[in-house]
This record gives sequence, C-alpha cells and structure tokens, in this order.
Amino acid sequence: MPIGYPHRPMKKSTRVNHPPPVELAADNHAVVAPIYQSVKFEFDTLAETERYLRGERPGFFYSRASNPTTRQLELLLAELQGREECLVTASGVGAVAQTLLALTKQGDHILCFVETYNPTRYLIRRLLGRFGVTHTMLSIEDAGGIERALAAHPTRLVWFESPTNPVTKVADIPGITRLAKAAGALVVMDNTFAGLHQHGEYDIDVFVHSLTKYASGAGDVLGGAVIGRSELIRSLRTDFGMIGGTLDPHAAYLILRGLKTYFVRYKAQSASAQRVAELLASHPAVARVHYPGLPSHPQHALARAQMKDFGTIVSFDLKGGLEAGGRFADALQLFAMAASLGSTESLVVTAQMMGGRDLTADQQAISAITEGTVRLSIGLEDIEDLLADVAQALNA
Ligand SMILES: *Cc1c(COP(=O)(O)O)cnc(C)c1O
Repeated sequence: MPIGYPHRPMKKSTRVNHPPPVELAADNHAVVAPIYQSVKFEFDTLAETERYLRGERPGFFYSRASNPTTRQLELLLAELQGREECLVTASGVGAVAQTLLALTKQGDHILCFVETYNPTRYLIRRLLGRFGVTHTMLSIEDAGGIERALAAHPTRLVWFESPTNPVTKVADIPGITRLAKAAGALVVMDNTFAGLHQHGEYDIDVFVHSLTKYASGAGDVLGGAVIGRSELIRSLRTDFGMIGGTLDPHAAYLILRGLKTYFVRYKAQSASAQRVAELLASHPAVARVHYPGLPSHPQHALARAQMKDFGTIVSFDLKGGLEAGGRFADALQLFAMAASLGSTESLVVTAQMMGGRDLTADQQAISAITEGTVRLSIGLEDIEDLLADVAQALNA
C-alpha cells in the first residue's frame, strides 16, 4: 500500500519521512528529466516485487544495480558510441578495473601496450598479476610484435588506446582489430582521448571511457563507461553491481548536462589545439610537436583516415629539457598546472608530473616521454588569448 497520501492522518514526525507526493499528469512533462536521487524503488505490491526479482518485469529496485537517471545516461552513451549497451561507473578507472576483472580469469593472457594510461598498466600488471592473469606489454607501433605475441599465447584481451597519452601516437585500429580477431581475442579500446563520436565503425568489442574528461567537460564530476554489444555488456552487469563502483545519479545528471555541449566543445577545442600545435611547431625552443593533426606527425595519414577530429591534447618536447619545461609551465597564465584533460579550462602537465616510474629504460624509450616533454590540454578560452599565453611562456 503506497503511504503518504494526505487523507491518512499522521503525526508531523511521520509526515517529514513521507512527504506529500507530487505527480505529473500523463500529458505534462519536465523538459529536463528529473534526477532520481533515490537509492530505493518500490512496487505497489509484493507480487509485482517478486515478478521484478524473478526478472519477469522491468523496473528499478536498488540504485547500485540500476537507476533511471544513470540508465538515461547509459542509453545515450551507447548511442553516441554506436553500440547497443552501456554500463556507467563511478570513475574512468572504475570502468577499466571492473572491465578487466569481469572479463578475465586465472590463466588468461592480456596483450597491452606501454603507451597506456598509468593506472591501467598498474591494474593489468599488479592487480590482475596477483590473480594469475599474465600479460605481454609491447609498443603500440610494434605490429610484428603484436602478431608474434598473439601467435605465442592464447589471448583473452587486447587492450589499447588511441591517440595515446601523452605523446598522441595513433594506433592502427584496423590492423590491431584484424590480428586480434584472427587470434580469437576480445578487443577493448580505452577511447577516452578520441571521444564518444569517434572509432565506432571499427571492430572493437568493448569501448571504455572516462566520462570525467570530454563527456562532462566541466571538470567537476568523475565518471566512467563501458560500451559494447548487448549480450557482452549484459554479461558484465552482475559483476559490476557486486563490485559496487556505481555512478551516483547526481553525477549522471551532471554528465548528461555536459553532453549537451559535447560536440560543440570537442570541435572548437580541437580547432584551437591545431592552432596551438602550429604555433609550437614554428618556435625555435621546441624540438618536436606531437599532434595528430600536424602533417609532421608520423601517423598523420592514419589519423586522417580513422579520426574525425584530432583531439585537444598537444604535447611537445622543449630543447631545454626538464628545467625549460618547468619554466614554461610556471610562466603560463591561462593554463592550470593540473592533471586530467578535456574540460573547458586549459591545462598543462610537465615531465615531472607524468608517471612512468614503473617502466624499464627500454619501455621509457617507447613511451617517448623526454625530460622536456610538456602536455597541453586545450580548453574553450579565446584562441588569440591562448596563442599569446603560449608564445609569452615559450619566450620566458
Ligand atoms: C583519465 C583517464 C582514465 C581514468 O579516468 P578517471 O575518470 O580519472 O578515473 C582512463 N583512461 C584514460 C585514457 C584517461 O585519460
């Protein structure tokens, strides 16, 4: 029996726990969907509750498993990435960790790459290593090595990113997916850098995203997503719910709100990144610029073939090394010296702030991070102001 109707007399201390319900008529709708900030949902009768629990009717029961606001975000993200199903998580790393745990078991082998987000490397090497999951870690550019590794070990997952962090190497997605599929491996792509509107046409089984970056855009909320075909993503749902790294409905709402401007932001910030990359490429203090949109990028042709926008991350190597990188970052006025990327304010990260202490000397060479490497995340400020700030900091 639903409680809280005004005709039932109740004490005020009861009433505050059962406030008067407000219901909209069927022909009267909120233009922005309300936030379902509720952990629990009830059905009118025990019989319907039991039908729900037996999986015989749709509905919502407990927000760790599902919630209407997070569900709306999942449906939208699946459509943006061009797949059927999505699960959202409390952070991007949560999406990475839960996907790795749910898709592997003792004795499985993962093929992964040096040019991978640091925490993902940690999760594959250290966490899964403790449970008897093995891995091979190669350079994303080592096509021959990928073929040999897949021939040498039955492989459960091939896990990669493109463009890579921080030096924006572009992975050969058709090449990697072809080899992985021929070897019977699942292909997982962390597509955070390229964004939700890119790479959907390739034969990727699972896309992982940090929603903290471009999806929200505002840098005020954490979130993650795992996207793929229906039966594969549904098979993860129980493990994800039990691990419990669920996205909160309020965070889901903020990400839904951020997505309204996603396309405009991504295009505008990419266009500004191109201009900043061109400025850097013409400056005598700069040894090398890493931006897929520059014709000088080693995989520029590949990037043109497989990307719609080249992204908002521009990295470069200063001739003056560590000290020059520090001076440049300190001299910038519009760029916050902070981690993360994809928000509307511009950010800078120097070599001192980049991870990689877990890598051997050979692997560090593959990562291509030098003492003078600086990574810029280009925001939504006026391009003339950004160019002027970068120019004055280079001259400092
Ligand atoms: C930031 C990031 C993550 C992790 O996301 P969080 O939301 O910060 O946990 C994963 N992968 C890539 C490529 C990232 O840039």
